[in-house]
Amino acid sequence: MIGFNKPYLSGGELENVQDAVARGKLSGDGYYTKECQKLFRSTFSLGKCVLTTSCTDALEMAAILLDIGPGDEVILPSYNFVSAANAFIMRGATLVFADSNAENPNIDLDHAEQLITPKTKVLLVVHYAGVACDMARVQKLKEKHKLYIIEDAAHAIDAKYKNQYLGSFGDLATFSFHETKNIGCGEGGMLVINNSKFEKRAEIIWEKGTNRASFYRGEVNKYEWVDVGSSFLPSELNAAYLLAQIKNVASIQAKRLQIWQAYYQALLPLHTQGVIRFFDVPVHSENNAHMFCFTVSDLERRTALLNHLREAAILAVFHYLPLHDSPYFKAKYTGRELKNAYRYSDTIVRLPMFPDLSSEEITAVCQSVKTFFNGKLE
Ligand SMILES: *Cc1c(COP(=O)(O)O)cnc(C)c1O
Repeated sequence: MIGFNKPYLSGGELENVQDAVARGKLSGDGYYTKECQKLFRSTFSLGKCVLTTSCTDALEMAAILLDIGPGDEVILPSYNFVSAANAFIMRGATLVFADSNAENPNIDLDHAEQLITPKTKVLLVVHYAGVACDMARVQKLKEKHKLYIIEDAAHAIDAKYKNQYLGSFGDLATFSFHETKNIGCGEGGMLVINNSKFEKRAEIIWEKGTNRASFYRGEVNKYEWVDVGSSFLPSELNAAYLLAQIKNVASIQAKRLQIWQAYYQALLPLHTQGVIRFFDVPVHSENNAHMFCFTVSDLERRTALLNHLREAAILAVFHYLPLHDSPYFKAKYTGRELKNAYRYSDTIVRLPMFPDLSSEEITAVCQSVKTFFNGKLE
């Protein structure tokens, strides 16, 4: 069986975990947490980095930091993972769902702009598959309408917009180190604070609403409950594993890009024939090989293709279901039909993608995809 994903040991992970144990401190905010934050920040030229237990937690921290509450409107794509929606709705915000672009699943900024009202407080963008949203346009919307920008950069480790790393544009940005992301530690995340006015409070929210971080730096003489917060910091065990992956990001990315290119070359003829379609990637975007995906004509064909691959012992998968039409949200939705969100939901195919995928396996996957379409074309 060729799985969809397989966690990858890049070298040094297990040694680091052993060292973390030897250091005798496994709770959060120790040596490895600080090293991860420092190295991730410097590698990708980001603002202050705060390691979290997941990207979901980083998004929850973001919603608290921006003081989101009842009456606030948050614009986000419907074709998206559920975490951002949960983070805001838990604070009582009104979710305003935007459609995706026709060319790629990123948020349609024309539609997003139409949805802005005086109550809009946040525009959340997701760089789907590491394809950069138009951040110059996002910045203009921010300035014109006085919005906060959150980049959900879970797919966008080592991806760029016009030579600048994604995650460095929004007031806040979030990353995921879930095992399916470019680098990972099983479960983990990072909140990036590019707007420095949120730095101090982030540390407090992270540590259950206490000023423990200040206390350990000797800035206050007792540590107290000073704000709301939760336990958003991971164990040193996770951080130790993750540090090796951050250090080895260049070699991990070289492997991922090689796999991505092999898929691309082998499947390009099917794209040219029009039976599968790659996204139209804007020139401002630089590929980070987060996933290899394409769309097919419709849901029926997608289901048949995934079944065909499964019969060949290959696990390919689809992705998000539109959030505005989910069992939880459907009755609350009052906006227009979101055609592209449904289209991506019905037609995206994601192929196995992980650094240990061999060239024989890539060939087998591509051969199976080709056999499926040749059968259909005859
Ligand atoms: C993976 C992912 C998340 C959630 O990340 P976790 O670390 O699993 O909480 C959120 N948003 C997007 C776009 C993702 O791909």
